[in-house]
Amino acid sequence: MFNLNPSHWERHRSLGTYDVVIIGTGMVGLWTAYLYLLRKPGKKVLLLDKLPSGQAGASTRNAGFACFGSPTELLDDLRHEKEEDVIQRLRWRYEGLISWRGHFEADQLDWCPENGHEVFTNGEKDSYHSVLASLEHLNALAKAANIPGKVYQIGKAVGPQLPHSIQICHEAGLHPGKGHQALTSRVLELGGHLHRGILVPQKSEWTRIDQTWKIPTSQGIVYTSQVVIAANAWSSELLPHLDVIPGRGQILLTSAISELPFQGTYHADAGYIYFRNVGKRLLLGGGRNVFRQAEESHQAMTTAEVQIYLEAYARDVLLPNIPFEVEERWAGIMAFSSDGSKMPYVHSEGEDCFVAARMGGMGVALSPVVGQQMAVMLH
Ligand SMILES: Cc1cc2nc3c(=O)[nH]c(=O)nc-3n(C[C@H](O)[C@H](O)[C@H](O)COP(=O)(O)OP(=O)(O)OC[C@H]3O[C@@H](n4cnc5c(N)ncnc54)[C@H](O)[C@@H]3O)c2cc1C
Repeated sequence: MFNLNPSHWERHRSLGTYDVVIIGTGMVGLWTAYLYLLRKPGKKVLLLDKLPSGQAGASTRNAGFACFGSPTELLDDLRHEKEEDVIQRLRWRYEGLISWRGHFEADQLDWCPENGHEVFTNGEKDSYHSVLASLEHLNALAKAANIPGKVYQIGKAVGPQLPHSIQICHEAGLHPGKGHQALTSRVLELGGHLHRGILVPQKSEWTRIDQTWKIPTSQGIVYTSQVVIAANAWSSELLPHLDVIPGRGQILLTSAISELPFQGTYHADAGYIYFRNVGKRLLLGGGRNVFRQAEESHQAMTTAEVQIYLEAYARDVLLPNIPFEVEERWAGIMAFSSDGSKMPYVHSEGEDCFVAARMGGMGVALSPVVGQQMAVMLH
């Protein structure tokens, strides 16, 4: 039913005239709409997404880490970026987490404030020791980003295979499906409109007449003064000059494990592996670095290679001698740059067309701040 090709009649009708049209109903599109409607009550806002029902490319398919930066991630960033940029992104991500909690109750998000961690195997001792040597510097970065307290501290081992760990205070876990739904409800309560199952063509097919964009979607024509492209991994399909590379992330979720040996959110292998508890179940994702070329994909499907790799990690490193079954598997699509830049796109393309995209693996935390920046740019 979802894949009917559009009829002539469906395409050639008006879907209305709006102040703002937002392409993409992921967390970025929703936070933008929500914060804009709070600033400008009564404005007519329409969100469009090509996916049906409550799905998004990444926002409903991620791991639910409310995180702002693990030690090896920050140390690697410092090798490629100016320190002030690293601090700024740290600040945005922390502020994003504060926004989630400021706008929603903990139970609306299944917020689990059990701290984040980065863990190291015995073979990664050198990496662990360089983190230890940089702890003071890392805490100084966090302080400069206005994150209170001593954020990075030596943590407890996670079993024999992961003897070293750094605890990251203030990081947490959340339920991205619930967060997405709670945000959607807020946008609708404030009078926002939402159409799903609608494909927006690339910008070269839109026309601008008398300060109004005419956008021919798969379901009809939309008229609007302003447009926000919040299409993340697909933003370069709408605006081909954007530098956006898709990156698939795959996840598995086990059945309940009575003696699950950890609680909280964990980064391993320089952030390329991530795992957490979901109640008594293990959620494990990552491995993109090992299968890099295959995972530069827009297809949100799991593959045997990555899933076997993740299962081996669960069996050999996380749960040695603990039996488990994998109950669910899924994939979502992230957006990266080709040159390794981690800064998101938040800018105007001119003529009241804006871009808020390329959130990497940080969109849960970044989306409230990017949404706020967009809400201020819109008139
Ligand atoms: C497996 C996985 C694990 C992750 N884990 C975490 C994590 O733990 N913490 C974290 O902070 N981040 C994580 N991320 C990243 C995070 O999910 C993303 O950064 C964030 O969700 C991006 O939000 P978005 O709104 O920009 O994009 P999306 O959620 O992808 O939304 C963009 C939407 O635009 C729509 N769209 C695109 N093109 C068109 C078009 N032409 N017409 C109509 N609609 C269109 C798409 O259908 C899509 O729904 C993870 C991502 C994945 C895939």
